[in-house]
Amino acid sequence: MVYAGRFTVSTQGNDDMLDITGSVEQAILESGVVNGIATVFVVGSTAAITTIEYEPGLKQDMASLLERLIPRDAPYAHEARWHDDNGHSHLRASLLGPSLTVPIVNGRMTLGAWQQIILLDFDTRPRTRTVHVQILGE
Ligand code: ZN
Repeated sequence: MVYAGRFTVSTQGNDDMLDITGSVEQAILESGVVNGIATVFVVGSTAAITTIEYEPGLKQDMASLLERLIPRDAPYAHEARWHDDNGHSHLRASLLGPSLTVPIVNGRMTLGAWQQIILLDFDTRPRTRTVHVQILGE
């Protein structure tokens, strides 16, 4: 079967990192799927989804890694063209990607004990994000 779940989250933007594992678990529970896969996808070109050990040290490390790779204050053609301020937001989002697929085995995601699903919002202002959880299985 295919189950289409979704939820929304409010973010502060500016590299805000949210643990969305519980909301994804909830969607899997509602789907009734015991064995299959869940694809978690955030709508928008300035946010991303991945996994991490969700703790304050890594939260800080991720922000500083992305600042080194894709600095906020570097010149971006996107900003010159559209007269906005979020060239780095788009590139950070593209680099990490908007989605993640997780196996479901015996009703549970196969995440590690210290592996949480996170949503990162790189835009330069608070946003409301829609996350789709598309579940395939039986
Ligand atoms: Zn833009």
